[in-house]
Amino acid sequence: MEKILQEQGKKYDSFYLYDQQIILDSINNLKNNFRGIDFLYSVKSNPHSLVLDTIFSKGIGSDSASLNEVLISKEKGLSKEKIYFSAPGKSRKSIEKAIDISVIIADSLSEIELIDEIGKKKKISVNIGVRINPNFSFTQDIGSPSKFGIDEDNFVENINLLKSKKNIKITGIHVHVKSQELKCENLIRYYKNMFALSEKIQNLLGYDLEFINLGSGIGITYSLNDVPIDISNLAKETLKIIDKYKDRFKKTKIFIETGRYLVGKSGIYVSKVLDKKVSHGKTYIILTNTLNGFIKPSISKMVTKYEKDNPASYEPLFTCEDSFELKTLKKDISKEKVNLVGNLCTAIDVIAQDIDFPILEKDDLVIMTNAGAYSAVISPMQFSSQEKPVELFLNTKKEILL
Ligand SMILES: *Cc1c(COP(=O)(O)O)cnc(C)c1O
Repeated sequence: MEKILQEQGKKYDSFYLYDQQIILDSINNLKNNFRGIDFLYSVKSNPHSLVLDTIFSKGIGSDSASLNEVLISKEKGLSKEKIYFSAPGKSRKSIEKAIDISVIIADSLSEIELIDEIGKKKKISVNIGVRINPNFSFTQDIGSPSKFGIDEDNFVENINLLKSKKNIKITGIHVHVKSQELKCENLIRYYKNMFALSEKIQNLLGYDLEFINLGSGIGITYSLNDVPIDISNLAKETLKIIDKYKDRFKKTKIFIETGRYLVGKSGIYVSKVLDKKVSHGKTYIILTNTLNGFIKPSISKMVTKYEKDNPASYEPLFTCEDSFELKTLKKDISKEKVNLVGNLCTAIDVIAQDIDFPILEKDDLVIMTNAGAYSAVISPMQFSSQEKPVELFLNTKKEILL
């Protein structure tokens, strides 16, 4: 890997590198443990074309958060039953274009009206999912206000009205209330609540649900202090819950969605030292495209400065203060105190302050880990019209593809 990075560092001043083997290992780890469960990949976490090819070729479907993600998934060869379009505030145009090629998850009562109306015009009945904002969270048995989905009570109150609609049929439910959970017991508690909710809704509808989408939640380690989730135990407990409900959901597909679990650890971000200077006793290392190329380290600095109470609610912009490691390829381990900053004309472009770091010179590379999910896609690359970092893909034959 070191040689690969050195070589690419000669060609590019900043780049992402996604390692296909790590993605494949994560896929296998989920599929081998969660037997009988279907997975959807949250495309918004990393829509790189070769990343999508890798994931979709393993039979994983698409959790699309926009019309464009639906269209990309379709172009990649996924059939309608493998593309789920879930997002708040879908436009009429996006519904019209997605209606024949994906399963639309309605996010509000008015959106159900809209789909019904579009169905009527097209003289079809549209099978839809509904996103529910449930009366529970990962840790409590109360609901909370949300811009996502239809409140559970509101859905139940309107069930007869919804059943009377001629051009839609509710065939599945979707809930997603939290990302990046590392406590197995919280996920299990959540899944139990999800099956109880699904049973209640199925009874109210009076016919069998075709799918239950459990959403995401499964976290990955970011900080070196994070304890990885025991996937094998989580899967075992989840399959036990499913087994308890097997008579009620005989033909129902169970989905788990995930973005970061498949790709989060597969990516690194590499940035080259452009300059080094000392100012009033402080040493500044000026790197290529930090805030604008990989925003998470700079955001880390900002969020922890301003938000003391619940910084974790800033997912996926912010996960935790040390959500990445900083590394170099230097063999010499003598260190100095430095500030690592970027080359933008703003003072907030800072990724580390007063840290002890191996002594860097111009053209050395700094490597940042955990850059596979919500990294390139959420970084403001247009800012100051810099040359953008490239996104490289390392396949299992150790070839670099652009
Ligand atoms: C973003 C998103 C996910 C993916 O979350 P991860 O933490 O990356 O697994 C899943 N479901 C929905 C509805 C999302 O918006």
